[in-house]
Formats: sequence, structure tokens, C-alpha cells
Amino acid sequence: MEQFLKVIRVYYRYLATREEERIVRQSPQRVRNLADYGYPSNDITALSAKALEVTTRLTEQFGEESFSKKDPMSMLVDILLSHRTRDEQTAAAWENLLKRFGSWEGVRDAPTKEVEETIANVNFPEVKAPRIQTIMRQITEERGSLNLDFLCSQPVEESAAWLNRFQGIGPKTIACVLLFSCKMPILPVDIHVHRTSIRIGLIGKKVTAEAAHNLLQALLPQDARSIYDFHKGLLRLGQRICVYERPRCNKCVLTDICDYYRTVVKPK
Ligand code: SF4
Repeated sequence: MEQFLKVIRVYYRYLATREEERIVRQSPQRVRNLADYGYPSNDITALSAKALEVTTRLTEQFGEESFSKKDPMSMLVDILLSHRTRDEQTAAAWENLLKRFGSWEGVRDAPTKEVEETIANVNFPEVKAPRIQTIMRQITEERGSLNLDFLCSQPVEESAAWLNRFQGIGPKTIACVLLFSCKMPILPVDIHVHRTSIRIGLIGKKVTAEAAHNLLQALLPQDARSIYDFHKGLLRLGQRICVYERPRCNKCVLTDICDYYRTVVKPK
């Protein structure tokens, strides 16, 4: 009898362990909230209205910015330099390149070490210098010159696909070149736009920056000016007020429509 009870106890312990393992395996799926990975609500009309309201208020606060006068090739260099770098440092490096080498062709053909020295004030110059030169050589091989003006006169999808083939040119860079220089309706999502649109509640908490491009763009009017104002508004908000560590909500004009403020900063 004693032996029988021992076998039963072992058997039940085995069953309990299997059940615990099953719960652990299943729990991530059970708690996965689909709204975190897409729109936070099914009411897309309300989300679009919110995106518009955000754009209006932020444009009033920070002012309407003009489109860039840089041609697409110059803009491409600018954006490639700007990764994890402040605007002023990017602008200085961009100007230093033209001052030292005279033209983009001069930058392309210069010794890489010299290009690296010239852009030493931006982050990762040792990565950016060879990358910019490689892209410039590939563009020259394909187009015969360093001129990307043709991108502005073909459909946005075609221009985006053309740029997308180059290593080191991702969705944000593509959208920046086509929106800023060509005034095409395509939304760039950088770390500021990504973070602030999640906090405000336009997209779910776990949407990646890559997925955010399409989700956010679908909420906006499909014209370059509206998309540009939305981008610049959230960019300035993220740089100056809704900063990464501690958002300065007391300086923000969005408190009454911001999900993060309502649920985290001042929950009722
Ligand atoms: S209210 Fe606060 S959290 Fe919301 S967008 Fe403004 S600064 Fe960011």
C-alpha cells in the first residue's frame, strides 16, 4: 500500500509540473494585447481626428516650418550624417564636406580617412564616411552622375523602391529625402515621432518604428504639407518637451488628449 501511495504521489507531482509548464508556455499569448501592436482603438475616425488636432496644436506652438531647399542628393547626405546626431552638428558636418571637397563628386572620390576626419563631429564618423562614399559610387554607377532629381518626378512608391535597394538607406532616410526635398506625401518616423505618437496614443505601445510609418501615415491627410507638419510637430515635441526620460508635461499643449498623461502622469 505504501508503495502504491508513493507511485500515486510521484504521478500527481509529474502532472502538476506538466500543467505549470503548459501555463508558462501559454501565458505570453494570453497577456498579449493586440492593440499594443497596431492602433490602440478600432475607431480610426477618432484617431485621425486626434492626429489632426495634434498637428494643429503643435504647429501653433512651434510654428510652421518651410520645406528644405536641398536637392535630393544633398538631403540624402544630410540624413545619412544625422543618425544619432544633433541637428547643429549634422549641419556643420554637411557644410564642412562641401567646403573641403567642393562637391559631392569630390567627397565620393576623396580618401575615406579624410572624409572621416571632416565629419568627426557627428557620431560614428568611421561608419558614416565609408557608407556615404559607397552609396555615392553605387548611385554614380547606376545613374552616371550624383544627381537624384529624377526621384521627384516619378511616383512616390517607385522612388521609395529605388532608394530602398541601397544598403544603409532605410525607411526613415527614404521618407526624409522624398518628403523634405521632393515634397512627396510620405511620413518619416524617427525616434521622437515614434516615442511621442505612442505616448499620445495614436499607435500601440509595442508598434515598431518601421510599422509606425504606415499606421501613422494612414491617419493623416495624404498631402505633403499635412504630413510634414505632423512630422515636424512631433519631432519638436520629442526634442523639447516629451523627452525620453521625463516628459515635461507641464509645458505640453496636449495633456487633455494624451493617453500617457491620462493613464500614467495623472491617472484619475
Ligand atoms: S502630455 Fe506629457 S507625455 Fe503627453 S505628449 Fe505631452 S509631454 Fe508627452
